[in-house]
Amino acid sequence: MRAPAELVELFRENGKKVTPQRERIFHILHGNAGHPSAEAVFARLSAEMPTVSLKTVYQTLAELVEMGELQALDLGMGATRFDPNDHPHHHLLCTRCRRIEDVDIVLPDFQELLSYRAHFAVESVELTVRGTCARCQEDLAGKGPAESRSDQRQGNHHARSRGGKDA
Ligand SMILES: [Zn+2]
Ligand SMILES: [Zn+2]
Repeated sequence: MRAPAELVELFRENGKKVTPQRERIFHILHGNAGHPSAEAVFARLSAEMPTVSLKTVYQTLAELVEMGELQALDLGMGATRFDPNDHPHHHLLCTRCRRIEDVDIVLPDFQELLSYRAHFAVESVELTVRGTCARCQEDLAGKGPAESRSDQRQGNHHARSRGGKDA
């Protein structure tokens, strides 16, 4: 995504109106690696500009996507997320808290393999890796003891009944 000042010019050149709210949205998104949803952008913007509407946010995001400045990500986790990072990259998606992180790893072999095996002219490869982020792993570890105690009780019960049949 271009710098906010450049976006202001680009919007004007394309006959689109540039309001203080829109300019603020450019600033919120520029260099934002958090992959925010429209609602998250709105929450941040309305903290600074209480009169802004969610509709303004939706419209501005849609126009940025249309102009190729912003990528709309639908990773099958509910709300569409917006990504200003225009370098080729992949995503780590935490299935617990829905945090999305960028990974800049080039996969030239994978790209070549696809072209060769599927006779497919590959333009780009974007992977979504699902799992549990570091913070959620810590959270889960903190809750561990109580859960594993009840798991153990169940485990013993199953082991007894299974043992009877298998033997
Ligand atoms: Zn997480
Ligand atoms: Zn990204």
